[in-house]
Amino acid sequence: MRRPSRHPSEIPTLLITLLVITAMALVSIAAITGMTAGTAFCVSLCAVPALGMIMLGASTMANVQHHQALLRQAYRIPVDGRTGENQVLDELGDMVRECRQALSCEPVDVFIVPGRQVNAYTFGLHTPKVIVLYEPMLKIMNRDELKFVIGHEMGHIVYGHTLLNTLLGGMAGMPSSLGAALLFAFTFRWWARACEYSCDRAGLAACGDLTRGIAALAQLAVGDIDTAAELQQALAVIERQDDSVGENMGELLSDHPMIAKRIKALQEYSR
Ligand SMILES: [Zn+2]
Repeated sequence: MRRPSRHPSEIPTLLITLLVITAMALVSIAAITGMTAGTAFCVSLCAVPALGMIMLGASTMANVQHHQALLRQAYRIPVDGRTGENQVLDELGDMVRECRQALSCEPVDVFIVPGRQVNAYTFGLHTPKVIVLYEPMLKIMNRDELKFVIGHEMGHIVYGHTLLNTLLGGMAGMPSSLGAALLFAFTFRWWARACEYSCDRAGLAACGDLTRGIAALAQLAVGDIDTAAELQQALAVIERQDDSVGENMGELLSDHPMIAKRIKALQEYSR
């Protein structure tokens, strides 16, 4: 199967955000040092790579610590083959391999962590990158819905979002490498929201069923959905969010688009 194309807004939003950050850096350097914009540009040619190296080092350390903390409380899914020890984990391992094949994704490590959230995220600077699923997902989602979520997270890896997001600490639950990263993460949220639309396409390619993909997204917003009638009710609630001014304003500060918009984008893409 061919990997789905990125959402068309992803690359333009990244380029515009990078331009904004570069302009902010130049203005800040010029304001702090009293240099002209030209001198500030020359200085930033050295300063930006140096800052990048510092952030990379700090992020690598934060990643190692985060990984070690995960291992203490998480169950690792046997991604390389069935072990025969735990049927649930073996079935999850099968799903991970099917998703990897559908998206031509590099090797990954996948962990289940205890918690109350219906959520998942991805991090890592090196292969294998790490996908984390919160335990409640296993209780409320069926096989296809879980494959949508795993495929979505693999989308962040195959489209190259994971590296930038890990450096900037922009993903849910990720440790932030530097206080300054908060500012960058805020600026990058516009791009991060475009990335979510691309990864929903990857999730759909992995699960292969639009209705189950929509049900997975709906469950991220409202929790357990078991029947077609419950799904219709949930979609009506989510649809009302889309019309709310408050929700639309809140989205500007979030790194995820509203679920209603993600569902609409997925329906349009599958058409
Ligand atoms: Zn995502």
